[in-house]
Amino acid sequence: MLMAVPNPSINKKEYIITQIVHETPDVDIFYITPLDNQPLNFDPGMFVMLTYVSTEPKVEITRAFSIGSSPTTPVLDFYIHMIHGQLTSKLENSKIGDKLLVTGPYGQFRFIPSEDKKVLFIAGGTGLAPMMSMLKQINDQSTGTDVVMFYSVRYPNEIIRKDELKELESKIKLKNIITVTRESDLPWNGERGRINSEMIRKHCEDCRERTVYICGPLEFVKAMKQATQELGINNVKVKADVWG
Ligand SMILES: Cc1cc2nc3c(=O)[nH]c(=O)nc-3n(C[C@H](O)[C@H](O)[C@H](O)COP(=O)(O)OP(=O)(O)OC[C@H]3O[C@@H](n4cnc5c(N)ncnc54)[C@H](O)[C@@H]3O)c2cc1C
Repeated sequence: MLMAVPNPSINKKEYIITQIVHETPDVDIFYITPLDNQPLNFDPGMFVMLTYVSTEPKVEITRAFSIGSSPTTPVLDFYIHMIHGQLTSKLENSKIGDKLLVTGPYGQFRFIPSEDKKVLFIAGGTGLAPMMSMLKQINDQSTGTDVVMFYSVRYPNEIIRKDELKELESKIKLKNIITVTRESDLPWNGERGRINSEMIRKHCEDCRERTVYICGPLEFVKAMKQATQELGINNVKVKADVWG
């Protein structure tokens, strides 16, 4: 059964930045709270349009960001790769109490726990955000969903929410395989190299029985779709969110 898509708010809703965490060398997590304290109605996987506004000089910049928080809380969080672009430069200089406007939620990349009992999540970098929202919902609502997740980062110090992921592994049916793609002096005992069909097969023998969610940059998503084809996973069961 398909659930109704939450109605996006047409008007921009006011939020304030309540916390900024320098999570990894390149990624900051922004926590924003609505002035009316009402939770946004969204399904994990969806994104919102965030608007930065300043009056002197008059600037308004809007970009899409996937929600990393659970739908059960009014506070939204976002894993933002600080690339020094137009919006991310403004966010670099923002502070607690600054206002941001939100419209949405949007997107067809949606996780419906009643439809997907067994899932395979494949995330690259900040592509973890929608998966994290899904994992939090699975935990909050005790949905019993069986999750195998592959999460790719370049270096061990780029893993977002490492402790929270560990904690979730002990609370829900989650097998999390983190892979590091580049060599460095940083200690690492986990998987190495890019995710491919061989790596997926090694850790997830029943991958064909799972609905697959992929999120990350364009090249990553292309490679992961190719891997799911090689594994003989039905296209209908593969959902992807591309940012590039
Ligand atoms: C559905 C959706 C969800 C998204 N979710 C997320 C998310 O959760 N987290 C996230 O971080 N992003 C996410 N994005 C990307 C986000 O919307 C922005 O595109 C991104 O934050 C860059 O915005 P900007 O204004 O800072 O860059 P812009 O100024 O718009 O620059 C655009 C592009 O130019 C290049 N560029 C510009 N300046 C530099 C620079 N100094 N160094 C390197 N490259 C540069 C980059 O390739 C960049 O992507 C999402 C996009 C979509 C479509």
